[in-house]
Amino acid sequence: ARGLKFIADDVLRKQGRNYYSTGGCRRLEGKVALITGGASGIGKTAAHEFIKHGAQVIIADMDSQIGPQAAKELGPAAHFVQCDVTVEAQLEKAVMIAMTDYGKLDIMYNNAGVAGPSFPPSIADLDLDEFDKVMQVNVRGTVAGIKHAARAMMPAGSGCILCTSSISGLIGGAGSHSYSVSKSTVPGIVKSVASELCRNGIRINCISPGPIPTPLSLAQIGLIYPRATQEQLVEIVNGLGQLKGAKCEEADVAEAALYLASDEAKYVTGHNLVVDGGFTCFKDLPF
Ligand code: NAD
Repeated sequence: ARGLKFIADDVLRKQGRNYYSTGGCRRLEGKVALITGGASGIGKTAAHEFIKHGAQVIIADMDSQIGPQAAKELGPAAHFVQCDVTVEAQLEKAVMIAMTDYGKLDIMYNNAGVAGPSFPPSIADLDLDEFDKVMQVNVRGTVAGIKHAARAMMPAGSGCILCTSSISGLIGGAGSHSYSVSKSTVPGIVKSVASELCRNGIRINCISPGPIPTPLSLAQIGLIYPRATQEQLVEIVNGLGQLKGAKCEEADVAEAALYLASDEAKYVTGHNLVVDGGFTCFKDLPF
């Protein structure tokens, strides 16, 4: 049904009638957003949501196969820029494209992330080179994104930065050690930076999603269940994220991002918005 809604929204947008699907209210009208990792999963859904609400979106992703395809699907308000967030010059260039081609950067969504190639059962088996690689993307890439967004937004005296944490950063046993450590740093980075940027009219917040079946989470779960089919992996991830019948979907995170990016959240900064249906409220994991 969500696939159908995506297509229907697309048809309406092509007809210039997308205001129907937002109830007539376009909350990001005229805004320019840059979404790292916007070619897939949560980032792509957020791009769709932002466009639906009137934004122009630059998708900055390292994947040159799915990136242009995603931009094509999202329509003329989307623009793909190949960018590896671990390479500072590429991030800087992506931000510069927003400034030169669109004249400003209103929203920077640091969403790109990796889970790492293994799921070690024990800290005693942790591969520190692998740990470094995860930290490079999830922590350094996020900090670099904040840095270059701040440089662009400070002269304007306004802007909104979003970052991506995870429930894996809030509780133990919900991801590999590398991933959990990397994600646990994000709310701290956000608080630290918020204390400075609030003086410049710039807000910064992060979102901690629950388990959603995307290439990232499916690859991670696939390491634990190597014989499972793709369908079974989707079921497993949905099962993890499902509490009282509701499962976590990309759109739930995109809606949270829309709120934080919009003027409705003008007084919200330094916050970590947990979008997990209650997952982290349980004393033990709910499965
Ligand atoms: P995804 O695999 O669908 O998308 C991740 C995107 O990031 C991909 O398009 C990939 O090409 C891009 N990317 C990876 N490394 C990059 C780099 N170095 N530079 C630029 N782009 C890069 O995964 P997703 O689930 O949509 O993940 C989005 C974010 O949400 C990640 O930060 C992830 O950690 C976080 N998250 C996901 C879940 C989940 O269950 N799916 C839960 C909590 C948090």
